[in-house]
Amino acid sequence: MIYFDKVSKIYADESIALDQVSFGVQPNEFLTIVGHSGAGKSTLIKMLIAEERPSEGSVFFESANINKLKKREINKLRRRIGTVFQDFRLIPNKTAYENIAFVMEAAGRTDAEIHSDVPHVLELVDLGKKIWSFPHELSGGEKQRVAIARAIVTQPDIIIADEPTGNLDPINTYEIIKILQKIHKMGTTVLLTTHNKGVVDEVGGRVLTMEKGKIIRDDKAGKYVL
Ligand code: ADP
Repeated sequence: MIYFDKVSKIYADESIALDQVSFGVQPNEFLTIVGHSGAGKSTLIKMLIAEERPSEGSVFFESANINKLKKREINKLRRRIGTVFQDFRLIPNKTAYENIAFVMEAAGRTDAEIHSDVPHVLELVDLGKKIWSFPHELSGGEKQRVAIARAIVTQPDIIIADEPTGNLDPINTYEIIKILQKIHKMGTTVLLTTHNKGVVDEVGGRVLTMEKGKIIRDDKAGKYVL
């Protein structure tokens, strides 16, 4: 589904963020990428959503070489990828319902679909009661659950969660992992980055370990060795 072929990224200031990275992700995999801050995890995610271009090598999404896509094709690709970030990125003056409705409208969904799907997806993340709450009325864990609901509502093929638990306490972290696992069981590919040992232990599954821009381990069953 995704393939990184000897991808390197050297930023303008000459910092080497990725150094000859190669790996693949199969459909329906739950892949955790672990590494200390600065290891290159976010840069790798940015390549996948075409926010940054590789300095060398290629990134493929199915048969498409991401760095060769035109703007319109990039938008199409991004609609197949749901993203969740450490800082939630909710629109502050919109309720949970409106935050989710907004992306559905942008994806061309009808009002009827919005009316039926938004409550459903908020139930799925156990936030049915907070449908009319604004972000400032929600805890960090609740905000992240809205962000996850928003990422999955358009039924993308893959969910990319870049340090989604970075701002959360252990209990909320655990709940977010459980929700990502639930989404995975429903048939979505999940790619999760973290620097947190507890998260890796909780998730199990395949783990890529990054250090200084390189993949130093690729373990079938979760292990954290840093
Ligand atoms: P991680 O997500 O694992 O913390 P990053 O991908 O953010 O790692 O960063 C990898 C390396 O690339 C770090 O040394 C970081 O300082 C550098 N880096 C990241 N983004 C930029 C940028 N826009 N310009 C210059 N250097 C960057």
